[in-house]
Amino acid sequence: MTSTTFPTRHTAPSTTDQAHMLKALGFESLDTFINAVVPDNIRRSDMTLGEFSSGFSEESALARLREHAAQNKVFKSFIGQGYYGTHTPAVILRNVLENPAWYTAYTPYQPEISQGRLEALLNFQQMVIDLTAMDIANASMLDEATAAAEAMTLAMRNSKLKSNVFYVSEDIFPQTLEVIQTRALPLNIEVRVVANIDESLTNDCFAVLVQYPAASGALMDYSALAQKAHEQGKAVIAASDLLALTQLKAPGEWGADIVIGNTQRFGVPFGFGGPHAAFMATRDAFKRSMPGRLVGVSVDAQGAPALRLALQTREQHIRRDKATSNICTAQALLAIMASMYAVYHGADGLKKIGARVHHMTSSIATALKSTGVSVVNGTWFDTLTLKVNDASALHQAAQAAGINLRAIDAEHVGLSVDETTTVADAQALLKLFGATWAPLDENTVPAALQRQSAFLTHPIFNTHHSEHAMLRYLRDLSDKDLALDRTMIPLGSCTMKLNATSEMLPVTWPEFSQIHPFAPNSQTVGYRAMIHEVEAMLVAATGYAAVSLQPNAGSQGEYAGLLIIQKYHSSRGQSHRNICLIPASAHGTNPASAAMVGMSVVVVACDERGNVDVADLKAKAEQHSDHLAALMITYPSTHGVFEKSITDICDIIHAHGGQVYVDGANMNAMVGLCAPGEFGGDVSHLNLHKTFAIPHGGGGPGVGPVCVAAHLAEFLPNLNAVGYQRDANGISAVSAAPYGSAGVLPITWMYIAMMGAAGLTEASKVAILSANYLAKRISEHFPILYTAESGLVAHECIVDVRGVKDTAGITVDDIAKRLMDFGFHAPTMSFPVPGTLMIEPTESEPLAELDRFIEAMATIRAEIAQVERGELSPEDNPLKHAPHTATVVCGNEWTHAYSREQAAFPVSSLRTRKYWPPVARVDNVYGDRNLFCACIPMSQYE
Ligand SMILES: *Cc1c(COP(=O)(O)O)cnc(C)c1O
Repeated sequence: MTSTTFPTRHTAPSTTDQAHMLKALGFESLDTFINAVVPDNIRRSDMTLGEFSSGFSEESALARLREHAAQNKVFKSFIGQGYYGTHTPAVILRNVLENPAWYTAYTPYQPEISQGRLEALLNFQQMVIDLTAMDIANASMLDEATAAAEAMTLAMRNSKLKSNVFYVSEDIFPQTLEVIQTRALPLNIEVRVVANIDESLTNDCFAVLVQYPAASGALMDYSALAQKAHEQGKAVIAASDLLALTQLKAPGEWGADIVIGNTQRFGVPFGFGGPHAAFMATRDAFKRSMPGRLVGVSVDAQGAPALRLALQTREQHIRRDKATSNICTAQALLAIMASMYAVYHGADGLKKIGARVHHMTSSIATALKSTGVSVVNGTWFDTLTLKVNDASALHQAAQAAGINLRAIDAEHVGLSVDETTTVADAQALLKLFGATWAPLDENTVPAALQRQSAFLTHPIFNTHHSEHAMLRYLRDLSDKDLALDRTMIPLGSCTMKLNATSEMLPVTWPEFSQIHPFAPNSQTVGYRAMIHEVEAMLVAATGYAAVSLQPNAGSQGEYAGLLIIQKYHSSRGQSHRNICLIPASAHGTNPASAAMVGMSVVVVACDERGNVDVADLKAKAEQHSDHLAALMITYPSTHGVFEKSITDICDIIHAHGGQVYVDGANMNAMVGLCAPGEFGGDVSHLNLHKTFAIPHGGGGPGVGPVCVAAHLAEFLPNLNAVGYQRDANGISAVSAAPYGSAGVLPITWMYIAMMGAAGLTEASKVAILSANYLAKRISEHFPILYTAESGLVAHECIVDVRGVKDTAGITVDDIAKRLMDFGFHAPTMSFPVPGTLMIEPTESEPLAELDRFIEAMATIRAEIAQVERGELSPEDNPLKHAPHTATVVCGNEWTHAYSREQAAFPVSSLRTRKYWPPVARVDNVYGDRNLFCACIPMSQYE
């Protein structure tokens, strides 16, 4: 093994810097310091990573991963089934997917520094609204299958009917059906899969789901169904395809109430299943209970249009177990890519792509029919189902020609044409059937189903069609945003660490990006070898026995983990266990996930130090002993403290027959130091987009592996519908692809392979050191809310700024917005304690950047002191009017009692390095009152 320097690139503070920080904390060495922070009752001795233990250099890790990549075979895919070949425009590939200004951004909770990605996501919503002809769309969903399941529960929530029956057309993607069935079971929804969806009209149900175009490829006219369903108060959900909708009458035009689908084929590579952005669009009536993130238009303090996340009161961080869904991290980066694909091609470009795909499909159908092959579906957009004598022989012949067809059964195969299909590909395909290619320029879509209406008429989709215009649009938007390529993003619980370039490189290697999720195993040998190594790495890091990478966000890992716990109890004849204990300080996804599996949440109190109140926990465990299913606990706590009592807590739960779910979002404090699988956890999810270097992408992608102890390994998720079965006892699928967002797993593989065991452990130590250094230095200005008895925190700390509300009328918002004037992204606001800031610096921030942040906080405290002393007005001070835009500071009129210089350059380093927020403070209340979630009409720009 080559000795590696990568850990010194990743973990920024040098030995000298560390010594400086330790000195400030009064410690001699990093090890004595860590011994004082991490309780010895949970310390682990050793983390063995096998051949990765000593770590690879960047070059040798890439070379090693190339060997895996070389074992994958990139075939021409006609598999379809929700995943299609697509050309990522090179300008988007390089300037979005490969550009840290986009991929290292955080979720746009601070809208003033996120206007660029908010605009891109608003474009996504407009694109979906236009193509589906619905009233409103969100940005975005995790995949098509989970979007369908969320549509089912949305329809149920909104239904006035008493029924618990949900009808699904059998002509639907099998993976979508399996995820729907997974979700329906714990909620007692009865799913009826029928050949003739009209049966739903003569039976009780609250909603129906059809696929348009259907999985077989057929085009059905659902307008009569929709009309009758509405007369009966039933909702109609359509799973659809945006490229098809360039040619087909939009679902909103024939009466669908909810439309869902995937946007993968708008320029986002297969990635062996993901990540891709799915979408959901609804009628107006559904908007207030829609799941997921929704971008809305509001105004800023100057009255200018400004974007923000709307209706956050629906979400789990506010509504907890009453939330509309547990979705938190979604697929922002991929939604941005898909929206840019539409911006670049425009309506005409998309229509051409759609028409070409359709014509080619018709040509293939005609050629096949003329040689006597039976095409089962009489209508199509891009997909044909063929009846054949011997499907397996055909698959064999196809694979010998480098072609993959869709496997259906022994007598049927399917094929889907896409943007990348060339005439040569079509010829090679037809040759398998002894047919010959003859081009046909005919629209075979039935007249009643042809698209007549215009779409993407907004200027944004009609301006940036040259590469220069596109390049500059992308640059313009990313310049509006603060991402990790410009500043630390000290978000508590979100671990915004380095996303190293070497880690990102393999993501776009064709051997990883161009593999269909349902490609035959013989073509994915390298992928699965890499995945199994990632699983083994995570087993080593967590101390658990087994891992599934299927969940495509932390929320989905929680959901899967709770289903596994349920299955475990029922396997022991204890399916009545349905109580989930959750401490008051838990992340909102925890109670939201518990509700989704039908568990009842019982809240456990926290004591004045922020720790779980063990006496209360004990009392509640006793009270609910017979029905206790699980405890969900975050460790180290969301209060940023290593609680010694964790082992006692686990013992109490186990004594009452419950399982311990350790939310692993804070794993960055533990890797190499302690392991949830060793100190009493039964299940955890990890967030690879936090601890294990996958970038946040402005709100996704995410990967939320579920890790389990040995007694639960048999219950890890399958995806039986596509032949993926780990264990016959496994739960059914929680996402649309066997390995979820496999396409970004090379990032985590690279991270762990390059860090090695010592590098990872050192990273945890330095993350804890940096947090304590910040806590100590900031405590000179603001109190730190919670510490352990030692006075130390874990890898994050809560800064209590509530005091200055009374002394100066300054709120946590004012401080967060003022930090923008210093070029900083604010820390986590008001979680887990309202009115406070939670700071997590991570190991990747250089000491100079930590000091720059401390200087900003100190300067802000001094400004607050000026207000306290009466030197600045309580209403007219730089905090209340933050952030200051260039327009305001450079305007001819300046009416404030403080100087322009203080407004824009409160510390002198800003003179040479200044970020100007593009909008002033955004008005949240206005935005929710005047909900508007589409592109701003051009008239409003003036
Ligand atoms: C981020 C986070 C989650 C949710 O993870 P997502 O990937 O955003 O779904 C859950 N729990 C905690 C403590 C978190 O910080």
